[in-house]
Amino acid sequence: MPGFEMFGALERAEVQEVLDSGVLMRYGFDGMRKGHWKAKELEQALAARMQTAYCHTVSSGTAALTVAMASAGIGAGDEVIIPTFTFVASFEAVLALGAIPVLADIDDTLALEPNAVENAISKRTKAVMPVHMCGSMANLRSLKALCDKYSLALIEDACQAIGGSFEGKPLGSYGDIGCFSFDFVKTITCGEGGGLITNNKDYYTKADHYSDHGHDHVGKDRGAETHPFLGYNYRISELHAAVGLAQIKRLDDFLAIQEKHYNVLEASIEKLAGITLRRVPEGGVQNYSFLNFFLPTETMARKAHKELVGAGVDACFYWYDNNWHYHTKWEHLKGLHSLGPVSEQVEKGMKQHGVYNFTASDQWMGRTVSCLIKLSWTEEEVTQRATTLHRILEKILREA
Ligand SMILES: *Cc1c(COP(=O)(O)O)cnc(C)c1O
Repeated sequence: MPGFEMFGALERAEVQEVLDSGVLMRYGFDGMRKGHWKAKELEQALAARMQTAYCHTVSSGTAALTVAMASAGIGAGDEVIIPTFTFVASFEAVLALGAIPVLADIDDTLALEPNAVENAISKRTKAVMPVHMCGSMANLRSLKALCDKYSLALIEDACQAIGGSFEGKPLGSYGDIGCFSFDFVKTITCGEGGGLITNNKDYYTKADHYSDHGHDHVGKDRGAETHPFLGYNYRISELHAAVGLAQIKRLDDFLAIQEKHYNVLEASIEKLAGITLRRVPEGGVQNYSFLNFFLPTETMARKAHKELVGAGVDACFYWYDNNWHYHTKWEHLKGLHSLGPVSEQVEKGMKQHGVYNFTASDQWMGRTVSCLIKLSWTEEEVTQRATTLHRILEKILREA
């Protein structure tokens, strides 16, 4: 997944242009900037690649989620349905808006299960946020049908699956708004950054204003701009956007490398009786950033993970025990351990939903092992990895 493995001349050249002009900010200073608008160019490139009418970049993926939800009108007391398996950012972004994160089970796609989502819908639900974890997507067709039926916003968190697609549409472009992260470990990176894409002009305009203190961005004098509504600062800097601009140009090359490496690894284990690959919903194409598979039991999955790491197969994850990605380790979030008081609405809403009994998710997560696909491996390293992966899994299945 990591674009940082491929940092080079293109990135340096883009950053150098910003440094030479001296304008590190994305807005204003028209005379000084010598025609360099890196954030704008990055937005144009992203919108073009993702086949959407609009794109707005911000300071992180978490900011993209927050701005996306704010633009869709989500606020105090609203409920947003998110999966049990995600990154803590989903939970945080919902809380940041004074809204209430409502967890729903995942299935063998490792993403939101549509029936679980329907069961979680209440009269306060405003949005469903599928998170396309580890390179592949939720069943977006079913989720879209649900969102249409109940008039909810469908906000895709495509931070871990940029470049994948569903029914021919780039991930992030299928729902109402899609979000990406360009943090240091994502498929393309700019250090810290994020972006949202949409075909909805109203959402786009709101995102554009909200992420810059509510500035309307009309005219050429920043000081004279008006502020139609409250906003905050989630701006991306020109330095970060410059790196992102170099990386978006390389996205398809990165994806091709990921797919090639992925195929070698997948081929080495797909025929092992007892190993099941994570399901990609019909119509979906992964971005191949992780190889995800299930072992027959939790015990075997734990053992496989331990032995893979022991054998030097690095970047293999057992998410079930991971502090960042599965809800069982989010005591600080579920318990609302915040620095200051949280609103009564959030406290009450969280209590109402605070049962957190997700046996269906446990069944999948307990048996999942995920292996990151790196870009920088040599062909020999990939083959070596495939051999070791096969050897260890074959042994564990045999011994069981
Ligand atoms: C990385 C990530 C985010 C947050 O992105 P940041 O840029 O690190 O804030 C959100 N959701 C998912 C699924 C992620 O992997």
